[in-house]
Amino acid sequence: MVSIEEAQQTILEFITPLDAETVPVFQGLNRVTPQDHVAPWDIPAADYSAMDGFAFSRAALAGNRLKVTGFLPAGETCNVPVPPGEAIRIMTGAPIPPGCDTVVPIEEAEAEGEWIALSAIKAGSNVRKRGEDIRHGNVVIPAGSLLRPQEIGMLSAMGYTSLPVYRRARVAILSTGDELLEPGSTPRPGKIINSNSYSLAAQVLDAGGEPVLLGIAQDSYAAVCDKIKTGLDQDMLVISGGASVGDRDFVKAAIEGLGGSVNFWKVNMKPGKPLAFATLKGKPIFALPGNPVAAMVSFELFVRTALLKAMGHRRVLRPKVAAFLEEPVMNKGSRPHMVRCIVSKQDNGYHASTTGNQSSGRLSSLVQGNGLVRLEPSASHVAGEMIDVLLMDQEFEMGMMAQAHL
Ligand code: AMP
Ligand code: MG
Repeated sequence: MVSIEEAQQTILEFITPLDAETVPVFQGLNRVTPQDHVAPWDIPAADYSAMDGFAFSRAALAGNRLKVTGFLPAGETCNVPVPPGEAIRIMTGAPIPPGCDTVVPIEEAEAEGEWIALSAIKAGSNVRKRGEDIRHGNVVIPAGSLLRPQEIGMLSAMGYTSLPVYRRARVAILSTGDELLEPGSTPRPGKIINSNSYSLAAQVLDAGGEPVLLGIAQDSYAAVCDKIKTGLDQDMLVISGGASVGDRDFVKAAIEGLGGSVNFWKVNMKPGKPLAFATLKGKPIFALPGNPVAAMVSFELFVRTALLKAMGHRRVLRPKVAAFLEEPVMNKGSRPHMVRCIVSKQDNGYHASTTGNQSSGRLSSLVQGNGLVRLEPSASHVAGEMIDVLLMDQEFEMGMMAQAHL
């Protein structure tokens, strides 16, 4: 049995980034670029007016009046030097004409016929200098950057129409179990609805991957083998159920029977001890426990990190915050326990309370929660103590959690 950290490390060592694909620039959102992006020119490319106003030479200003002798809107240029003592009416975004270095905003200039009067102003005011944002030749977006809307804007300003990004990982998802029915059927004695395929597919999407649903494999060696072979067309395969040591658990035997090698078979954690990481024909296979909570928590800790690394992300772990415990918690068991909890932000910092009953079949413990607290074996914490919580929700700060009564 390996520890959570050993399991994560083994998996990450195996995963290498996928190849890149070229996409239109704005479709690069939330993807990672494998290349440095160098500024092909200065931004701004020249000195520009930052205001609607009047451009003039501050050094040549004698007294407080200037004669306005021209007009320059954005999109046009003026190549004739503006004589000392004169000003050009200039709009925001127009290049500063030769002979000028300062702009007085319209609101700060008093019009007197063809003349304006201004009060004291510093040389260079209201001018955006060439290259003050970006210098030609600098690496503006380094390889490995996650592209957010602001990077998309910057790359567009640098003239890109398309760019390479790491490909989205295609993840095959297989559920196993004779007891499973697809959503849309009515549960009947002995049968339950397959929810894992869809929670796992959603976790894949949430991490930026592309789920490929393989449906349900019956609990037979042949059925599991067949589905695993189909799954090898994708970049990774995630299997739920059948990973334990029951009489009808065929996942491990099937992977080995197909020539795969199983790196580890059990992780020292709760929920989710029966968890395998295997490789077959160069593809990683994750065999997760069937219990819905165990499957999702295992995905969080192991598959998500692998997916993010494959898609070029440098940060593959969820953020942690220190939170005040709202109630005493303890772990009476012998394995580290990943306890589902509700994290909230209050005036004095983060607070965490557990979602109650932590049975690994109780999906509502995840629906109510937005974080995971790791309790070491025999740990006991009192209310008010500070504890680290792994934040599972992107929308954490938005308070978007379902408020249903479960
Ligand atoms: P297993 O790991 O196959 O022994 O399954 C453990 C538990 O998880 C059993 O109670 C299963 O019925 C349940 N389970 C397995 N697969 C799924 C699934 N796809 N959706 C919901 N529950 C499942
Ligand atoms: Mg099963």
